[in-house]
Amino acid sequence: MKLAFAEKLCCPVDKHTLNLKVFRTDSEDNLLEGVFSCPLCHRYYPVVYGVPIMTPDEYREKALEEPMLLKWGIQPDAENSTPFLLKENE
Ligand SMILES: [Zn+2]
Repeated sequence: MKLAFAEKLCCPVDKHTLNLKVFRTDSEDNLLEGVFSCPLCHRYYPVVYGVPIMTPDEYREKALEEPMLLKWGIQPDAENSTPFLLKENE
C-alpha cells in the first residue's frame, strides 16, 4: 500500500481521519508496517506485511495482533472491555 494512499484511509467505525505511525516502508514508498489510530474512538488498526487490518472487531484476534504492537512499543488498553483500543495517551 502506497503511503499516499494510506493517508486517505478513514476509521471504518466512525469515518474519522486516522493518525498513522509508520515503522517500515520499502524503497518505493509502500507502507509495510505501521499502525493507524483513530483520535475519536481510540481504536487501532495495525498494518502487517503491507495489509491494514481494518475488519470489524468481531473478526479480529487480539492475541494475533498484540505481539506486533508490543514489538512496535505500543501498549494496547488491556483494562478496557471494548477490544482494540489504545491507551488514551497513544
Ligand atoms: Zn474511530
